[in-house]
Amino acid sequence: MNNRAEFAPAVNQKRVVVTIISDTYNFLIDTMTSAAEELTKRRGEALKISVKPDASLVTEADLASEKVIIERIKKYFPDDQIFAEESGRSSEARQPGSSVWVVDPLDGTTNYANGYPHYCISIGRGVFDSNGRIQIDTGAVYDAVREKFYFAEHGKGAHCNGRSLKVAPPRPFQESFLVTGFYYLEGPDLEREVTRFSKIVQQCHSIRRDGSAALDLAMVAEGIFDAFWELGLAPWDVAAGTLLVREAGGVTRNYPSSVGSYDIEGHGIIAGTPGTVQALARHLC
Ligand SMILES: [Mg+2]
Repeated sequence: MNNRAEFAPAVNQKRVVVTIISDTYNFLIDTMTSAAEELTKRRGEALKISVKPDASLVTEADLASEKVIIERIKKYFPDDQIFAEESGRSSEARQPGSSVWVVDPLDGTTNYANGYPHYCISIGRGVFDSNGRIQIDTGAVYDAVREKFYFAEHGKGAHCNGRSLKVAPPRPFQESFLVTGFYYLEGPDLEREVTRFSKIVQQCHSIRRDGSAALDLAMVAEGIFDAFWELGLAPWDVAAGTLLVREAGGVTRNYPSSVGSYDIEGHGIIAGTPGTVQALARHLC
């Protein structure tokens, strides 16, 4: 993986091969490859696992991966802010036009800690707009298990291992293949989510709950799933993945309410093909 020439397509997609010339692309490949080595070398070991206040897990691997990423951002982009899952915000300032990196060093920690091979690293870079919102203009998701590097730049399309990505073609909702996650672990909030799940699962073809929002979104961009939805995600879960979906021809919106353009810091998200997102919004909003 260290050699960029090794980036052959992981799947036999009949899609356009693209040549990407971008310093950020090269920076992200090098950074995420190095961070992934921290994950891979600890895989299968008895990890020190801590439970965070929101009941999610953090391991030594999350921390080691984030350390690599933050050190490299500070070295190559010293003026940029960093908003990372384990170490938080480098600054509270939201100066319009200034750049910020939104980092998840390991998305799918529970999967990783249990040996379930569905997790990734997710990094987005954006700028603060005049309202203080983060507008992501570059995003990458790296699936080290399958050696798939997903990358998108605003207005320039989405790619995986040098092949362009396109969301699934339109099809009736009853044929759709969906993926979701549950934020809540107990009580009436969980019951409400399960009720929604139950309603939707009876109307689509099938649903997965796979435990890594960033990778789920990358697979929506790839055309595997028609759409993804989840409440209560953090910006680092969705920053790169939602850009991938939009650049692959899909749409993203917040829910239950959607005020103005999509906000990576909004409460819930629905992302996928335009028709599927519209149908899901009818069930969720
Ligand atoms: Mg994480």
